[in-house]
Amino acid sequence: MIAISMLVAPTLFAAEAREWEDRTGSFRVAAELVEADRKHVKLRRTDGTVIVVPITKLSHADGRYLSSLREAKPAAPVLTLVENGQPTSVIVTNGRPNESQITAAAELQEHIRIMSGATLPIAKENELEPDPARALILVGESNLSRTYGVVTKTLEPETFVIKTLPNVLILAGEDGGGKGNARTGTLWAVYDLLQDQLGCRWIWPGETGRRVPRRECIQLPALDICETPVVKIRHFRLLAQDKHRFGYEREGIGRFLDLGETYDQVAEDERVWYRRMRLGKSFPLSAGHAFTDWWEKHKDSAPDIFALQPDGKRRPRSGSHPDFVKMCVSNPKLWELQLAPLQNRAQQGERGLWVNACENDGSGGFCTCQRCRLWDAAPPANSMARPPVEDGSEVDGAPRDSELPESLSDRYARWYNELAVRARQFDPDVRVVAYAYSRYRAPPTGVERLEPNVWIGYVGFNAYPRPDSYRQLSADEWLGWSQLGATVFLRSNSLFYCGEGAPYVVSHQMAEDLQFQVQNGMRATDYDALQGYWAATGPTYYVLARMLWDTDADVDEVLNEFYESFGPLQEVAKDFYDYWEAFTVDLGNNEAYFGQSRTDRLRAYPTIYNAAVFLKAEAILSRGKHLVRDASDEERERFRNIELGLQHGRLLAAALEDGKTSSGAAGTQLMQFRRDIAPRNVINVYWTTSKEKRYRVLE
Ligand SMILES: [Zn+2]
Repeated sequence: MIAISMLVAPTLFAAEAREWEDRTGSFRVAAELVEADRKHVKLRRTDGTVIVVPITKLSHADGRYLSSLREAKPAAPVLTLVENGQPTSVIVTNGRPNESQITAAAELQEHIRIMSGATLPIAKENELEPDPARALILVGESNLSRTYGVVTKTLEPETFVIKTLPNVLILAGEDGGGKGNARTGTLWAVYDLLQDQLGCRWIWPGETGRRVPRRECIQLPALDICETPVVKIRHFRLLAQDKHRFGYEREGIGRFLDLGETYDQVAEDERVWYRRMRLGKSFPLSAGHAFTDWWEKHKDSAPDIFALQPDGKRRPRSGSHPDFVKMCVSNPKLWELQLAPLQNRAQQGERGLWVNACENDGSGGFCTCQRCRLWDAAPPANSMARPPVEDGSEVDGAPRDSELPESLSDRYARWYNELAVRARQFDPDVRVVAYAYSRYRAPPTGVERLEPNVWIGYVGFNAYPRPDSYRQLSADEWLGWSQLGATVFLRSNSLFYCGEGAPYVVSHQMAEDLQFQVQNGMRATDYDALQGYWAATGPTYYVLARMLWDTDADVDEVLNEFYESFGPLQEVAKDFYDYWEAFTVDLGNNEAYFGQSRTDRLRAYPTIYNAAVFLKAEAILSRGKHLVRDASDEERERFRNIELGLQHGRLLAAALEDGKTSSGAAGTQLMQFRRDIAPRNVINVYWTTSKEKRYRVLE
């Protein structure tokens, strides 16, 4: 099931025996290191037996020992791409490169130029002039790459290969991308090389977030890498794209901020960052509330498919929210209506269809008919009410339907199974996609198993920081669904509730939960939504994006990549974000914060983010004052973003103290500040201003 192969040529060692320790400190072994790749070490114990241990299981001290060995013995270079600032290689594509292969060649050329000053030429293989003095960098599959045995079409989606041969570097991957997915393996090969071999980092969008180490010579050791992402859909919903501009305009955000050129640039920066972090999709997954327009469409022709209300009528609970109408899920007529259009498509030869069984939003109005109620089970013992932010359903805060059990998961699971069995009759590759959400979030207790083609989007792990009890509950629920046989994917609102634009850091909690999810079957994510609080939450975003690809990376090592980008200010940056992480995690145990709705959380900001809290953070940053002169211009600009992020937090808290973020002296100052920092990717000022309107703290 684990579909990753990591064939980095292992480094061989002839080291002394030493004591190795696991991360928990409870296991120790005296052994000598035989070899190591990026993921595992092979150790020979004193009795001669050889064991293989994942690097993530080793203590941090052992990790540092491995790094020191690697630094002491860099692998011998076998290929020179640039020498003394002059190109000694040429980038070669096939005769008709597709869009992502063109991007891959351009990205490689651009980063190498920034790194060394050398502009590598880009040529199509059929126009290539022979020059034996130049190494060939084959980008994407081509006739040439095939002569070296590299064929990408048969690889799993998004898989890439990096391979050195005499005077040749191959960077190629599965590029079968089409509408709705990003199967751009060749581009992933380029980013992997730039990141893991050449030290490039993209810690946030835009130029200040890009770190490209400078060197006059670019050489590579022998490489033979093949990677397939474990997580097939690695997705953050973005909030500064063209499609959002209309919403911002309609809300009047243009009164405060430039929705023209600056907006376009920030949107492009966000897209490019998403791509460089290798977020994307191996295949499209169509989910989302499935029946939002069904009331209007079917209320006259098929009223029985809708939920029966306690008053005996089948209808939406609230007239103002027909899109929240619930379905009578035990009604075969509903199943027929869902499956008929898919059956038609299957008859046209389509395979691998998705049945969307994601119930509409809202926590009320569920069916009270006898047949649905017969499908219900007793409530699970561990079910507990969640605060409004945590269950993600604050949009519909109306009281529960008291006559129904708290958990309706059994009726929903039975419905998913009925659909799965029926749909397989016309498409053996069909999958049913549904949410574990709202009143059907906890795993069912009376259903023995879920059909293997059911995909459950668990809408949990929603808000961070999380008290331990909630983390445990979410983990138990996740395991419950996956042990019943469903493929569980994460449909989390965690980034949506991740702070309001003051420093807010939850890197370790989110990374640990991600690793738990991946270890327990998670193959797709859909994080709603990336708020773009780069200077306030940046390390958390970076860790999450990086670890969606490198799922067993060590969170502290990934954080170090982030902090290293600050050069001599590295320690200060780390202390600053560590301080805020401790502060944020504490909020998770603070009822006055965690138990509140989002609006109340916002209103509590001036108390939570008080003068004393900011003073400590400023004291940390002030330690950077005498280090700044040793920093490069880029490192200084990066550090400046941290300072601006802190300042944004202070101005926000001051404006909220006043009640509104857009008026009064404090609000006016805040909006002016947002105009100034908009292009720097400190904070996505458009989103945060729009969100304040939504939560009624903006006039
Ligand atoms: Zn019913």
